[in-house]
Amino acid sequence: AAAPRLVPGACFSRVRPAPLRQPRLVALSEPALALLGLGAPPAAAAAREEREAEAALFFSGNALLPGAEPAAHCYCGHQFGQFAGQLGDGAAMYLGEVCTAAGERWELQLKGTGPTPFSRQADGRKVLRSSIREFLCSEAMFHLGVPTTRAGACVTSQSTVVRDMFYDGNPKHEPCAVVLRIASTFLRFGSFEIFKSEDEHTGRAGPSVGRNDIRMQMLDYVISTFYPEIQATHASDTVQRNAAFFREVTRRTARLVAEWQCVGFCHGVLNTDNMSIVGLTIDYGPFGFLDRYDPDHVCNASDNAGRYAFSKQPEVCKWNLQKLAEALEPELPLELGEAILAAEYDTEFHRHYLHKMRRKLGLVRSEREEDAVLVAKLLETMHLTGADFTNTFYLLSSFPVGPESRGLDDFLSSLTEQCASLEELRLAFRPQMDPRQLSMMLMLAQSNPQLFALIGTRANVTKELERVEQQSRLEQLSPAELLSRNRGHWADWLQEYRTRLEKDREGDSDAAAWQAERVRTMRASNPRYVLRNYIAQNAIAAAENGDFSEVQRVLKLLEAPFHREGEATEVLEAPEPEGASRAADRRGSYSSKPPLWAVELCVT
Ligand code: AMP
Ligand code: MG
Ligand code: MG
Repeated sequence: AAAPRLVPGACFSRVRPAPLRQPRLVALSEPALALLGLGAPPAAAAAREEREAEAALFFSGNALLPGAEPAAHCYCGHQFGQFAGQLGDGAAMYLGEVCTAAGERWELQLKGTGPTPFSRQADGRKVLRSSIREFLCSEAMFHLGVPTTRAGACVTSQSTVVRDMFYDGNPKHEPCAVVLRIASTFLRFGSFEIFKSEDEHTGRAGPSVGRNDIRMQMLDYVISTFYPEIQATHASDTVQRNAAFFREVTRRTARLVAEWQCVGFCHGVLNTDNMSIVGLTIDYGPFGFLDRYDPDHVCNASDNAGRYAFSKQPEVCKWNLQKLAEALEPELPLELGEAILAAEYDTEFHRHYLHKMRRKLGLVRSEREEDAVLVAKLLETMHLTGADFTNTFYLLSSFPVGPESRGLDDFLSSLTEQCASLEELRLAFRPQMDPRQLSMMLMLAQSNPQLFALIGTRANVTKELERVEQQSRLEQLSPAELLSRNRGHWADWLQEYRTRLEKDREGDSDAAAWQAERVRTMRASNPRYVLRNYIAQNAIAAAENGDFSEVQRVLKLLEAPFHREGEATEVLEAPEPEGASRAADRRGSYSSKPPLWAVELCVT
């Protein structure tokens, strides 16, 4: 193997995918492939098999598509709040772009095709489980209406790598897999941070790319290719053009995060290198959709401080935009960038968030100041009652709004069925430290606060104390008490909701038309299916046993996540019975509340 060669002033490097042993297709996303002009699968079995074998060959990187010129892009990033220097792209390769008959232009990437000059000590491979998660979630997000990179194919192989998962003390060999990704561009905030000065890079391995002229080239390329209206409007004033570009990236990012908050999506690794320059969700890793609503939910097991907790996503993305503004200096004067961020981000986030939330609540005829409070109280009620985020919103479209409030009792019952059981709460708040370890920590906190802060366990100890307190509260509680408490909370909020709905109905002279519009809007805004971790886990477990049918079935489900017009209204199923096996869950409809074992699922 040739030694890596430093090329000053370059941020792309030509590469070749390293072949995999016996690549085998896991699944194709037909809607994603259709973007590239690839036709539907043939009906005849033999022709289908041939197409799948071809897909495995080309989308593993074992063969190159005609005209492909594979390259890896070198980028930077702030990871968990710290500038980490050059860190990407050691795992993904560009193949080139496809220009379609419809006049669209798509970039293709293979992720997991082996080492690049930017892989550092790592192998450039991805394992089957993380590839399935990225493949399924990219497509799920698209069909939910959230801006995202797409995934066209997932291919596995007989090649294996060892990752940091240990079973019975033995390293686990996992199959290598590749995902075909499709997007207008995969450039990130970090694609601009690579041009920081040598000083800022010191102490880090890897190339520090020659600065100003190439940064300007990148900026010109990004604006003229992905923001052509801005280029056209400001062709004669570069600073104004760059300001308009940053304003648009700011707005798109704010809207993207608002979409995440409305669908309960937690990204997990919101480093600046995972922030798309065109406002897409990018780089699916330890993401998680909320099951039980918890604003403090952290889906990334290595995020000890909870920097990327669900409720922190809006502020953290604003922080990331600040870093982008800093990286665009001097092409965009920093004071100007900061002024744009201050003027645009919060406003755009709240505007879009409230717009989506009104649709989720079926407020179709009026907008009122107090709607933000109604939404906040809904989330607070979900939090207090441990309600399932997706299912609660879905259920709200069958809230009986008639003045005589017939059916309210039944409705309250189905809502409280979507709240966490005592058993689930006890699992979720189970203490994780040895009690002796905890009391040592508390002693240290008393006797040597500096050392305590230094070893960075403050957040862990605070969380543990909360768990201990929760646990003792839960021990006092009976299932009947929990139920009546939850019913009380929900009855309170529903009363406010009913009052607000009545005001909305007054905006329409035709009550029946209002009701139809309300239900239609809610059904189109509140999905039945999201890619919950346990659903992905079921598909992964089957795939690791050589059965890819569950990945394909889940993909189909996620292609139509909303209630379909003309479909009978369905009552969500009750929670899984105690002791239900994973096999039974697999046969379930996935619109029910997650099974108990989902509570303890840990993703890295
Ligand atoms: P992530 O946190 O997954 O976004 O990864 C950050 C960067 O680490 C990526 O841009 C890759 O360049 C690099 N990376 C991740 N996994 C690998 C791997 N298996 N081999 C080489 N580089 C990797
Ligand atoms: Mg990444
Ligand atoms: Mg990753």
